[in-house]
Amino acid sequence: VGIEKDSDQLHIIHVTAEMAPIAKVGGLGDVVTGLARACSARGHKVDVMLPFYECLHKDQIDQLKLLLTYDSFHDGDWIPTKAFHGEVSGISVIFIEPSNHFFKGQYVYGGSYNELEAYLFFSRACLEWMQVTGTQPDIIHAHEWQTSALSLLYWDMYHHLSIKKPRLVLTIHNMEHYGECRKEQLSKCGLDGSIYATVDKAVDDRTIGHNPERLSLLKGGIVYSNAVVTVSPTYLKETLNSGWLASTLIMHRDKYYGILNGIDTAMWNPAEDIFLPLKFHAQNIKGKKICKHYVQRGLGLASEGSLADNKVFDDTEKVPLVVCITRLVAQKGLHLITHAIKLVEELGGNMVVLGRASDGRVEREFESLANLHNQGPSIRILLMYSLMFFSEELSHMLYAAADFVLVPSIYEPCGLAQMIGMRYGAVPVVRKTGGLADTVFDMDDQSNHETANGFVFEGIDEGSLNRALERSFSFYKERPAEWNDLVRKVMCIDNSWNNTAGKYVEVYNSVRFDPYVPL
Ligand code: ADP
Repeated sequence: VGIEKDSDQLHIIHVTAEMAPIAKVGGLGDVVTGLARACSARGHKVDVMLPFYECLHKDQIDQLKLLLTYDSFHDGDWIPTKAFHGEVSGISVIFIEPSNHFFKGQYVYGGSYNELEAYLFFSRACLEWMQVTGTQPDIIHAHEWQTSALSLLYWDMYHHLSIKKPRLVLTIHNMEHYGECRKEQLSKCGLDGSIYATVDKAVDDRTIGHNPERLSLLKGGIVYSNAVVTVSPTYLKETLNSGWLASTLIMHRDKYYGILNGIDTAMWNPAEDIFLPLKFHAQNIKGKKICKHYVQRGLGLASEGSLADNKVFDDTEKVPLVVCITRLVAQKGLHLITHAIKLVEELGGNMVVLGRASDGRVEREFESLANLHNQGPSIRILLMYSLMFFSEELSHMLYAAADFVLVPSIYEPCGLAQMIGMRYGAVPVVRKTGGLADTVFDMDDQSNHETANGFVFEGIDEGSLNRALERSFSFYKERPAEWNDLVRKVMCIDNSWNNTAGKYVEVYNSVRFDPYVPL
């Protein structure tokens, strides 16, 4: 499909801790790649800067080559640092590799180095690279607390050196992580930490437990960026109403935007997905039914007959399949996920949880649930923390097979699972919060007839989930013709970046010549 080029072509550099598919932990990785590809298709020049993690999937980087070796500052020393260049999913990526121990280890996060100091180093090393190479983008786009210090470093140092042109945009994907940082830690990247320890700058000023020694990199990023974006309009409202950063966001309300994330519809495309046994599209969903059958049989679910028995196919079709693909953290509604496992079994459905826990206690809890259920006919709990690459492929299969995608989050800045699920014809069952409230509208809400596309509940109690799941199962079982229409309808909803990248371009253009030089 030809995408219209924007008249003003910008140079945008994303500075990020994650990028799909080579360094993806959650939605951040998907968003960076999806937004970069969409802006690039609109004619902009886009680069991504990423730490050269030891664990990167290097086989997915094309034309990797060393660009230069230079020095970047950390804790009183200049660290020899390599910049590599390569292409990932058609996007130009600059990889930063310090010669110290930063970014070594098996995973993107949780290595045996100090993460805060490593990302402070990385933020500065990206600016240093621009300085050394004379690179002057129009926009530097930082993401999350990890790269929030970049805006402080820019206005404090590099803007006074030779990089005068860029303006800074920060996207906050999740306000929960705010980059707690002591004054002397901030000083390690060469800033004077004590200058930033005031309420109007970066001090963490929550009333309970206030500590003037403690800074928040995210808060600093909000103050020192030309524009701040969060990932859905509803999450924007929620963050202005609660949480200790609300007062800072209210103060900077004029430059704070809520832009819904999109999904990359080329990467997530059931009509061309190489991971599926049979591809399908909204006009012909037979392939989806085969995918479901394949997954149910492959996992030994809902099948009492023999392989040769045709009746089995009918049986698997009658049994609704719920999938829940998620990081297993409190935000995602762990008690509701465990409750759903019980309920789906009682209601005679199948459920597959593809989960990734980083907390040992949660992992053990789900392991024991897996031991309890995985031998039975209805539930599979797949915990594949160490098989990240494989779990990505599996997630494609599961979205394709699912009748329902369950997202019972306590809070959810945007949420991609419900959008990906819909693209693959899985009807969302979600809690009404953040981006879920902006993308899923209840089938039984009469005022919503046009947009209705799923089942929504509000409470965080088990009863609220019960009612939504029961309603969704009844619809599935009792109204097969309408069900098929609903599956087709959700597949046709356009949650692509093509739809929302334009809003980012508007923000870029609005700050491009911003005279604002903060504080
Ligand atoms: P978050 O960024 O909070 O993790 P999102 O819904 O924004 O949540 O994005 C989650 C992304 O990560 C989706 O692409 C989802 O498919 C993927 N994902 C989450 N958990 C897993 C898992 N266990 N295995 C494979 N993919 C996962």
